[in-house]
Amino acid sequence: MRAFTIDRRRAIVSGIKPETEHLTTDEAEYSARESLAERVKELECLYGISRVLHDSDTDVPHMLREIVEILPRGFKYPHLAGARISAAAGTFQTGRFSLGPLTLAATTAAGRVEVSYPAGLAASDPAPFLPEEHKLIEKAAADISLALERIRAAEEKKRLEAQLRHADRLSTMGVMAAGITHELNEPLAAILGFAQLVAKTPHLPQQAALDTQRIVEACLRAREIVRGLLVFGGTAPQKSEDCNLATIVRDGIVFLEPRCKSAGIALRLDFGTDVPLVLGDPAQLTQVLVNLVVNAVQAMPAGGTLTVRTVREGSEALLIVEDTGIGISAETLGRLFVPFFTTKGTGGGTGLGLPVVHGIVSSHGGSIGVTSSAGEGARFEVRLPSRGTLPS
Ligand code: ADP
Repeated sequence: MRAFTIDRRRAIVSGIKPETEHLTTDEAEYSARESLAERVKELECLYGISRVLHDSDTDVPHMLREIVEILPRGFKYPHLAGARISAAAGTFQTGRFSLGPLTLAATTAAGRVEVSYPAGLAASDPAPFLPEEHKLIEKAAADISLALERIRAAEEKKRLEAQLRHADRLSTMGVMAAGITHELNEPLAAILGFAQLVAKTPHLPQQAALDTQRIVEACLRAREIVRGLLVFGGTAPQKSEDCNLATIVRDGIVFLEPRCKSAGIALRLDFGTDVPLVLGDPAQLTQVLVNLVVNAVQAMPAGGTLTVRTVREGSEALLIVEDTGIGISAETLGRLFVPFFTTKGTGGGTGLGLPVVHGIVSSHGGSIGVTSSAGEGARFEVRLPSRGTLPS
């Protein structure tokens, strides 16, 4: 009778037990017990992983860090096994992980899961991965991938809901603004007209002339705000003609160049050759450019670089205004397009520049996106639809 040696045990545990060979009763019992123990380990491992996946909401790195620690426990030599998970959120691995010949891996769309043994193990167990462990790693990778997809979908939903709330708020404000501005326009025109008449009165005392001048200036500023609100509310008259964004930028920037120069700002213009014409109001599109450039200039008090580009993307024409200024904090980013929101202090800004840009771009069927973080400059990207016609 064959001796039930340590080597035979190892062979049985390794799954390279000679199935064709006849096992002794002792060996068969041992084999069954060991297989059962392995299955329990694997199930516990999968259970642990599914608990982490189920309990995690959005903290993906934390979730993957926990799972990578659980994984080795499902394998035959848990004290020797190392694990690594690579996904978009980063790469997470246990201290024992070492990429080598004894590595088992599973790949999904969301990333890669690997379990490894130190190469030295091959001397005692050349095939340390059990057939069930192949399924275990595949199942773990599939579960992780599903969970990542679930989290991504939940985040996307949250983002869209926030965008919807924002758009809703803006459109309510737009309707309100349009109502108020119509009511204000007439009395404002009257004040301005009469103040200008008073200013022409002969022999006006000096103080009265000065005060009248102040009334006129205040009225002009108020008229600018009313105009801004009309555009924001979408009620300003709009022309509709073929506009070449490069021409709009070239013509508009002429007035802004001296301002850039005196602020120590280098101006870079870059016009794509295949940017299609957009149907719109050239004066309003110029206003978009001016508002974005003025903001960029004000964001670079110590100088910097201002880049204005036109780019084609599919059937859309893009106007990109990028600066190397102070950047925009996460908190400010969420309020940029809210009318009267300004960080420029009293008298510094009206808080209408970007709402007006938003109003114009929306009424042209386009959209505007911003990327920035504090201290990193800002990039405003205006996307306008086109019929694909190129400038002649
Ligand atoms: P205003 O310029 O009158 O403050 P806007 O609506 O044009 O109003 O801008 C709102 C706010 O957005 C600004 O006060 C500023 O904080 C921020 N902002 C806009 N553009 C930039 C930029 N390029 N860099 C940094 N901050 C900006």
